[in-house]
Amino acid sequence: MLFRSGIAILYITHDIASARYLADTIAVMYAGQVVESGPAQQVTDDPAHPYTELLLSAAPDPERAGPPVLAAKGTPPSLVSPPPGCRFHPRCPHAMAICAERAPGDFDVAPGHAAACWLHASDLDPAQARAITRPSAGQPASARSPVPEPGEEARLNTDIPPQASS
Ligand code: SF4
Repeated sequence: MLFRSGIAILYITHDIASARYLADTIAVMYAGQVVESGPAQQVTDDPAHPYTELLLSAAPDPERAGPPVLAAKGTPPSLVSPPPGCRFHPRCPHAMAICAERAPGDFDVAPGHAAACWLHASDLDPAQARAITRPSAGQPASARSPVPEPGEEARLNTDIPPQASS
């Protein structure tokens, strides 16, 4: 109906779960910048940016035992004086040396799906790719980042089927 009427709706939310079901396209913003964009289902099923994974880890899920842990590590940076490089690097468990020095551009991860994250660069040298903030295995769970570690997955509980469009 919206397409036939030529109407577009911009839905702004911190609830990425509702965005999955209401939007065709999702653009994830962090500290004033778009860090990931793409088809809603693809972004939520297969996130390509650690901040998107953080949002997914905080999405309502009746099967999650504990409370959401969105604020468990760090807070958004000052926009007056943002961190150099990738603005998410102080909170990112995947951060590498280059992340603290240079802001990533957009990398295409799939048709119509892009992420501003150095993890998708294929030509980093070892010095640039050196990890800088990965939490140690000995940290208590409460001190660890809510962002999944490499190899772990953050996904929405998608047992609820999308609403059929009218
Ligand atoms: S890996 Fe680097 S570029 Fe990607 S979100 Fe983390 S800090 Fe930013």
